[in-house]
Amino acid sequence: MLDRTKSPEKSWGAAPRTYSNSRNTLVLGGAGFVGSHLCERLLAEGHTVTCVDNMLTGSPANVAHLMQTNRFSLVQHDIVKPMKFTGRFDQIYNLACPASPPAYQADPIHTMKTSVLGAINVLDLAREDKASVFQASTSEIYGDPLHHPQNEKDWGNVNPIGPRACYDEGKRCAETLFFDYHRVHGVKIRVARIFNTYGPRMAINDGRVVSNFVVAALQNKPITIYGTGAQTRSFCYVDDLVTGIIRMMNAPDNVVGPINLGNPEEFTVRDFAELVIRLTNSKSSIVYLPLPTDDPRQRRPDIGRAAEILGWRPTVAVEAGVLRTIAYFDSVLRIPEAVH
Ligand code: NAD
Ligand code: UDP
Repeated sequence: MLDRTKSPEKSWGAAPRTYSNSRNTLVLGGAGFVGSHLCERLLAEGHTVTCVDNMLTGSPANVAHLMQTNRFSLVQHDIVKPMKFTGRFDQIYNLACPASPPAYQADPIHTMKTSVLGAINVLDLAREDKASVFQASTSEIYGDPLHHPQNEKDWGNVNPIGPRACYDEGKRCAETLFFDYHRVHGVKIRVARIFNTYGPRMAINDGRVVSNFVVAALQNKPITIYGTGAQTRSFCYVDDLVTGIIRMMNAPDNVVGPINLGNPEEFTVRDFAELVIRLTNSKSSIVYLPLPTDDPRQRRPDIGRAAEILGWRPTVAVEAGVLRTIAYFDSVLRIPEAVH
């Protein structure tokens, strides 16, 4: 599908074809944590799925189990570069962007390009194809929030020159581009602001709090709390998020967002560490390390809009989701090459 005559990138799997009763769907960042679950669900719902990923934080292993169907194909490509495809897509999901702070700060200029140039490339494609296009935006739009819980009407409190800005401001600019393409060109957009999401297939060295704590606890290694641990986050299980993303994509065209998607179950980081230690029956100690610059102090989504417009709310309680995540990392630590 990607015009391979112009592209040196790799591709795996059969070239997808459009079946008469199957939607032709593009998932950018589909070999990452959330993207791989989304590809899986879309295939189960009968879509023909093209997954594009530059493998920065994702891996072909995350989607290896999807290769058996000829409705799935994987193309290695960086969305910073324009995309040319020979077919047309009905739906495009843009999840391409590193999401973990250490990953997005490793090459901040490329992170910014991914959000900004990537959004332009994605939107140009959606415009050409007359496709509906979903943007995985983030609770980082709210920065260190001035209101609690965070409501879509909040404009945010972001430091534009700090180390998180490449991600926060990149995602804010992407939202601007989505709404401008919608107003100027009539592109059918969907913008969701995703709050901290966790689950199987997070990379073991991802650096985010859930994977760090679970992996350390399973190995009885010290759990690293940054700062005092009084800061809060609200954790959503990946299956719930995927349901919300797909529901938003299939909502009427006037549902452009932004809509918060997250689980309002809020924890201090310290309480979350204790939960993980209890659920893993771990002997881990807790060590306190410096708080990263601009680390938001609190975060909990107001999901009133998602509930009212999409009829969506999370169904997996944090304890149940963390237990599933523990089981996943336990199996990865036992058989590192295992693909789930
Ligand atoms: P992830 O890092 O596991 O997945 C991102 C995927 O995008 C990876 O496969 C990566 O290789 C790919 N990618 C990165 N830059 C790319 C580029 N320039 N071109 C092509 N592919 C590229 O992260 P995730 O947790 O799965 O997040 C998916 C999306 O959801 C991201 O856009 C993220 O910003 C957003 N989001 C996630 C969360 C969360 O808690 N998981 C919260 C808010 C927003
Ligand atoms: N955090 C922590 N220890 C870790 C990883 C993260 O205390 O090993 C903290 C981090 O400082 C932040 C919270 O956990 O306050 C969530 O961090 P994460 O990187 O998962 O996501 P984000 O900060 O983007 O919400």
